[in-house]
Amino acid sequence: MQRFRLGSILCFLAGIVLAAPAVLIGESISLTVDATKTQQKILRVHELIPVKQGPLTLYYPKWIPGEHGPNGPISSLTGLKFVGGGTTIPWRRDLKDVYTFHVDIPKGVSQLDANFDFIEPQGVSASDKLMVLEWNDVVLYLAGTPAQQQSFEAKLTLPEGWKFGTSLPFDNQLANTVAFKPISLDMLVDSPVIAGEYYRVIDITPAGEPIHHEMDIAADSEAALNMSTENQKQMTNLIAESGKLFGTRHYRDYHFILALSDHVAHFGLEHHESNDSRLGERALLMPTSGDSLGGLLAHEFVHSWNGKFRRPADLTVPYYEEPMETDLLWGYEGLTDYLGPLLAARSGLWSAEHYHEQMASIAASLGPGRPGRTWRTLLDTAIGEPGVGGGRGGWFTWRRGTDYYDEGDLLWLEVATIIHRESNGQKSIDDFCRAFHGGPNNGAEVKTYTFDQLVSTLNAIAPFDWAMFFNTRLNSTAPEAPVGGIENGGWKVEFNDQPARSPGRRGGPGNTYSIGLQLGPDGAVGDAIVGGAAFEAGLSSGMKVIGVNGRVFNQELLDEAIKAAKDNSKPITLLVVVNDYIHTFTINYHGGEKYPHLVRVNEKPDYLDELIKARVENK
Ligand SMILES: [Zn+2]
Repeated sequence: MQRFRLGSILCFLAGIVLAAPAVLIGESISLTVDATKTQQKILRVHELIPVKQGPLTLYYPKWIPGEHGPNGPISSLTGLKFVGGGTTIPWRRDLKDVYTFHVDIPKGVSQLDANFDFIEPQGVSASDKLMVLEWNDVVLYLAGTPAQQQSFEAKLTLPEGWKFGTSLPFDNQLANTVAFKPISLDMLVDSPVIAGEYYRVIDITPAGEPIHHEMDIAADSEAALNMSTENQKQMTNLIAESGKLFGTRHYRDYHFILALSDHVAHFGLEHHESNDSRLGERALLMPTSGDSLGGLLAHEFVHSWNGKFRRPADLTVPYYEEPMETDLLWGYEGLTDYLGPLLAARSGLWSAEHYHEQMASIAASLGPGRPGRTWRTLLDTAIGEPGVGGGRGGWFTWRRGTDYYDEGDLLWLEVATIIHRESNGQKSIDDFCRAFHGGPNNGAEVKTYTFDQLVSTLNAIAPFDWAMFFNTRLNSTAPEAPVGGIENGGWKVEFNDQPARSPGRRGGPGNTYSIGLQLGPDGAVGDAIVGGAAFEAGLSSGMKVIGVNGRVFNQELLDEAIKAAKDNSKPITLLVVVNDYIHTFTINYHGGEKYPHLVRVNEKPDYLDELIKARVENK
């Protein structure tokens, strides 16, 4: 959904506010989660639901906030059984929605016992030594009542000796059972818990900051908790820089929930007063720890303002069965993907060099590395997220999956440079953030926005035809990446034969920009760029390269072959397994190795670096 134009600042001020506190309806549902068998990857759930005679419909959360799709792990709900008045009450699943359950409550039954298990055979959220609990995994709730108005009293029993962290207020802890304060369902689902045997809390509240910020870290070993004092200082800077950028906060206090394990899925999920981030066990011990923290945690933190507080109206739904419309994800995720690295650089988690490399990598991956641009608009990547998403089975660069993230970096960098230009240097992206994400701290509040309201706020900062600008960028099928922001910032993207210090996040670099091939360490073809030399020679995702010019494949050998082919006319020969057969493919490529870099354009002022300079005097 794309709506254009003619808003005014009044539209912005009139934005819908779904303010906390919620009006809770009826009695609380008691929810008890027994996580003592988490090492067996099973959570046992017991709910006591106040009911009355007649048909009752219960939902298992389907559309999960932050995941932008109907991804609730319904296949992990097992062992479902309802009991009322001492008798088992049969249930049936809805014919049209597998997340919906129907029961008929007999006469005289005022409380329904719901029991089920949440199993996790793939180990997404739990290892032998830690767990992250997202409450939407372990809750059935009442159909027909907004999540904001349903009250839950949750209890969580942890394995013996495990410690825990969460933004969820709790009443007490008896032995290994924690009793949380009654809370609305939306806040419960928005407040994950991390727990583990090896656990550490690090206070990262900057001096003079009235709101408490902490990192709640659980790891698969004691040693992995050893965050450097430099990283702690940089995380404290991140809090200070966020305060400077947005001018306000929209939470009571903030918890960076960080799981460090090689046995959980690695991703981040934003919440209003916390974020659930998961990295490899040794992430904090690596020389690149600042890159990891800045890449993941800064992004998820920015979401507290952009995505949680300011949320696209059509992504804001009353409960988790209501489908979301995702056309404004280039704002929700795209702006976050721009501001996260900006703050990571301002706080010192990222060096300027790393920031440059990331921007060069994104620009290249969205230009010559993204043939999918020619058939699919940026807007369609946002609209298609539920269901299409990133897709599986390779062909990433032709699908153009979730480009609303990376292209958002370029889009919003360009916005930042246009604000600077159109205001003759008087205004910046910081002014926009303070206007758009500002206002009093009322805790975890949601203030929805539309395209018109976004445009209006920008116009109030720097008058410009923003609607036309976004419309053009969102609907383009030009093959070139939108690098206007990089160029306005005084830099350009160039290719040479020197790899960057750290590889880009997606789409390479590998041999992407030379022969158009992305290989795993074992030679498995992740992607062959449609239209590139390797694709034209016959390669595609799912094949496996086993030989290069007559020798058994390794990456160095392929790099050397590409280098050598530059100086002669002989093709590069690849021996490739296609299912059970072996083929020989010849690649006529003589352009040498190609890696993207940002290069200064000296005639222009360096505004790109100006944007990432610290705004707070780091103490
Ligand atoms: Zn995000």
